Amino acid sequence: MTTTQIRRTGSIHSWDISTGTDGPGTRFVVFTNGCPLRCLYCQNPETWRMRDGHRTSVDDLMTEIGKYRRFIEVAGGGVTISGGEPLLQPVFVAELLHRVKQLGLHTALDTSGYLGSKATDALLADTDLVLLDIKSWDADRYRRLTGAAIAPTLAFARRLSAMGMKMWIRFVLVPGLTDDPDEVEHIAAFVSTLATAERVDVLPFHKLGASKYTALGIPFPLEHTPTPDPGLVRRVRNQFARRGVSTT
Ligand code: SF4
Repeated sequence: MTTTQIRRTGSIHSWDISTGTDGPGTRFVVFTNGCPLRCLYCQNPETWRMRDGHRTSVDDLMTEIGKYRRFIEVAGGGVTISGGEPLLQPVFVAELLHRVKQLGLHTALDTSGYLGSKATDALLADTDLVLLDIKSWDADRYRRLTGAAIAPTLAFARRLSAMGMKMWIRFVLVPGLTDDPDEVEHIAAFVSTLATAERVDVLPFHKLGASKYTALGIPFPLEHTPTPDPGLVRRVRNQFARRGVSTT
């Protein structure tokens, strides 16, 4: 069997259609299973383990995407690979992105950047936009929040910028965890140095995923954490704006 005949499969949780949050226009979003991080505010704990996903082939996903192709094109959208952490399955994701590009659709990769070194230049050449989470700045705080190191994410951001790749940075705002003004200031200063970061999405923490933790029988660590009030969201957006960074 030649390489091109291999029926590549990946561990997939689900796919969905979304508008507004996962890239420009209406998106076909593929949620992969498996993530090396354990963010305290994670809203998708059902995607943490790769073995809990459904083995799905690139061909089968392309068949599904094909059904929405016209709709996506008219809506100025594309396909987003999200998770979980897509770069935990870099070969599968690279092939999927490549096939979507061959179809002529816009592609986006939604990642924490922790496994950015797994993204080959070829994978990135088939990616039009990277949605990159910068969850915190201070290394110790980042580790408490995610269980992992922040350095790989920052290195990935710098690499994407040097390659001229478009990025939308995502920052989840959690009262008492990620709202420290100095922290936000550091992130805003860093983002302002990334030539290709088009905007920062300040995403107010919410608890819509809490019932998933209950269903999985694991405690939701932020059960008693409040959601941010509009004044806090405004303050953080203003901090980015003062550095010349566009926000949503
Ligand atoms: S990186 Fe995303 S999927 Fe993984 S634990 Fe964090 S929020 Fe959840």
